[in-house]
Amino acid sequence: ASGYNLLRDPHHNKGLAFNEKERDAHYLRGLLPPAIVSHELQVKKMMHNIRQYQVPLQKYMAMTDLQEMNERLFYKLLIDNVEELLPVVYTPTVGEACQKYGSIFRRPQGLFISLKEKGRILEVLKNWPERNIQVIVVTDGERILGLGDLGCQGMGIPVGKLSLYTALGGVRPSACLPVTIDVGTNNESLLNDEFYIGLRQRRATGQEYDELLHEFMSAVKQNYGEKVLIQFEDFANHNAFNLLEKYGTTHLVFNDDIQGTASVVLAGLIAAQKLVGGSLADHRFLFLGAGEAGTGIAELIALEISKQTSVPLDLARKNIWLVDSKGLIVSSRKDSLQHFKKPWAHEHEPIRDLVDAVKAIKPTVLIGTSGVGRTFTKEVIETMASLNEKPIILSLSNPTSQSECTAQEAYRWSEGRAIFASGSPFAPVDYEGKVFVPGQANNAYIFPGFGLGLIMSGAIRVHDDMLLAASEALAAEVSRENFKKGLIYPPFSNIRKISANIAARVAAKAYELGLATRLPQPDDLVKCAESCMYSPTYRNYR
Ligand code: NAP
Ligand code: MN
Repeated sequence: ASGYNLLRDPHHNKGLAFNEKERDAHYLRGLLPPAIVSHELQVKKMMHNIRQYQVPLQKYMAMTDLQEMNERLFYKLLIDNVEELLPVVYTPTVGEACQKYGSIFRRPQGLFISLKEKGRILEVLKNWPERNIQVIVVTDGERILGLGDLGCQGMGIPVGKLSLYTALGGVRPSACLPVTIDVGTNNESLLNDEFYIGLRQRRATGQEYDELLHEFMSAVKQNYGEKVLIQFEDFANHNAFNLLEKYGTTHLVFNDDIQGTASVVLAGLIAAQKLVGGSLADHRFLFLGAGEAGTGIAELIALEISKQTSVPLDLARKNIWLVDSKGLIVSSRKDSLQHFKKPWAHEHEPIRDLVDAVKAIKPTVLIGTSGVGRTFTKEVIETMASLNEKPIILSLSNPTSQSECTAQEAYRWSEGRAIFASGSPFAPVDYEGKVFVPGQANNAYIFPGFGLGLIMSGAIRVHDDMLLAASEALAAEVSRENFKKGLIYPPFSNIRKISANIAARVAAKAYELGLATRLPQPDDLVKCAESCMYSPTYRNYR
């Protein structure tokens, strides 16, 4: 290989960090200026450059360019500056990047599988340069964050999520495959956008959709075997629940919007018990939004309560209520409800508005998963605060513009008594001289470690008990100092250690359930997780 090509290969390029010997051995003389700099100095310079950009999207593009230029520098930057760069490579900025993906598009990332490839998906998989794939993140772009149908431009999501799999969970970049399945889009403005990169047609549905997805799922198993993790991401709920159910018994599948969200939110609620006293079973929960996130979280809470107290699942569900776009979900609506809402249709008279639902149900925990911003109004939060000494309020909708309320509103309207966390990050809030640090219920706490746990144990199926194990592992990471600031999540700066602990607990569960294939079971699973994590340190080329 010529030195010129080496500099253009993101997997091997080290830029000015190539030393004298490497420059001699690999025909790099003259192709680089004389200076030799360290990995650390490269990180410092890149961070300096990125901080110059005022516009978040420019930071995103700078990161994408770096990923395409020098992979190990990209990951070192991300790992060493995780709190600062997470909002750049992931929510909220990735949302804007997807909206504008067509016009900022430079070099394609990931694998695009459209209706045009029907009948040839196995061939398409073989076009991908890597053979040893451990994690696939796949979207069909129909419900990107809270932004709706972005069609083929949803690719930003699998790409971003897999960057986090590597940076936070230590899965090798070459083992990660981002996929976008393009069955069209119903987004009129994209269909009319001359820069749109996807199929210019309305979404295929029904049999046509099912067949393409089925061909994909079969081809993946045929090409990569049974232990490849397939993470569904940002599918609309009319497909998400069905896909998870349909492939849950034949493939290693995980839906981050349903299961990952559930696990991260449950972790926050378990941690919050240290602040409010008591246990989960003492609470009444009210959700605004009864889709993938809302019903996923609700179900996992019920499962945890039912395990903790040995009450039947049905009974545990009775303390959990959900409001959708038509109002409180109640038994009189049962016939017209989507199947995933039916378990939550309890006896009650119909209620239209959230405020009235709060007044009637008297929840101790209010969770926003509606995708609609500014729906936790002053009156809603004041009512929560009048009912509870320490109301737990989670505004989970992303990106920031869709958050049900801001951190400032939650603290101000509850007179500083709310225990608050959100989906997108908020800066600390000063309320009457006290500083409150809002936690972020970010799925990135769970899925990288969860995936690592599946991979290291060679798991062949995902089980709900693994989600509970992950929640408990995350909740255990919140320190006394964190609690003092009102936090119910640990800081992201320790995320690699957190991921290793989550991975160990998930793997242990996989072994316990007989779902692990990597035998014999390692003695120390935490050590095992830490030692198999990818590190972005440069290699020496001799
Ligand atoms: P989804 O499946 O489409 O569900 C949205 C739900 O909100 C539906 O039940 C919908 O009602 C309801 N809704 C919509 N408008 C409403 C309104 N004005 N009032 C009351 N309910 C309303 O979406 P999802 O996957 O659950 O995601 C929802 C949001 O959660 C997104 O913004 C996403 O970014 C966020 N999220 C956050 C995290 C996190 O913080 N870690 C994780 C996952 C998702 P109908 O059923 O009647 O249509
Ligand atoms: Mn998602």
